[in-house]
Amino acid sequence: MMIAWWLKTRRIPGRLVLVDAGGGMQRFNRVFAERFPDQVQHLTHATVKSLDPFARTLATEFDAIRFDDAIIIPPQGAADIVRQAGLLETDAAGTPGAWAAFDPLHLHALGDERIFLVGDLLGRASPLFGAYPKSAHMAARQGRIAADEIIARSRGKMPVQALPESVCHLYTDVEPMEAMRIDAQYRVRGDGLVTQSVRQHEDPQPRGEDQAWLRGMTQEILGAGTAGG
Ligand SMILES: Cc1cc2nc3c(=O)[nH]c(=O)nc-3n(C[C@H](O)[C@H](O)[C@H](O)COP(=O)(O)OP(=O)(O)OC[C@H]3O[C@@H](n4cnc5c(N)ncnc54)[C@H](O)[C@@H]3O)c2cc1C
Repeated sequence: MMIAWWLKTRRIPGRLVLVDAGGGMQRFNRVFAERFPDQVQHLTHATVKSLDPFARTLATEFDAIRFDDAIIIPPQGAADIVRQAGLLETDAAGTPGAWAAFDPLHLHALGDERIFLVGDLLGRASPLFGAYPKSAHMAARQGRIAADEIIARSRGKMPVQALPESVCHLYTDVEPMEAMRIDAQYRVRGDGLVTQSVRQHEDPQPRGEDQAWLRGMTQEILGAGTAGG
């Protein structure tokens, strides 16, 4: 969004090509199409198959793209230590995936209740929605839940069941400034599966709500304020 806005306002005859293996987010897709049709070309469901950084070209299944500058994001996965510890999810054939297998109600590793797993490295939380959002808010909440589990167990008590939530603030346009907040809430269904409900709040006139969120989280986690606030 920032790059598209910069190209447009500075009248730079460049183009931002988003090579996106997924389908994009509806809200962003709309802004790209309506406000930046000459600046952004969004290729959805397009996976990078090869890349030549010296010739400055990359190829998807359908397109060959020449670039002056590129930001390449490799396939994501849990850090290698998770694989070394044998904690990755496996499919029906036993082939390891990219993320860690865990118990969604207690956050311990599947097969070893002494190992707790939190944050981005987690794999599937529920067959109903897949993985939790990979956000810092989510990671912090999971850390607290895992800590409560450990404390309860060390006191010989049953931990109080808790599920995390996620809050994500993002900007959907630069001028005029427009923001969006995405909240994800979770609960355990009668059959024991975790369900997800996601709400998007559009805010055409943000007044620093993201900064207030950051101050609240920093205060809660570190007991301190942030620089400048
Ligand atoms: C560009 C960007 C913007 C984002 N914006 C937001 C946002 O606005 N709000 C939000 O909530 N979230 C945001 N996120 C997501 C957020 O940063 C992550 O969800 C969060 O950092 C996950 O925390 P984590 O502790 O699980 O993993 P990480 O922060 O990735 O921490 C894992 C750590 O483990 C270390 N490590 C790996 N292997 C080893 C090893 N063998 N030994 C020792 N250390 C090891 C790594 O170096 C790393 O420091 C953003 C992410 C990106 C990339």
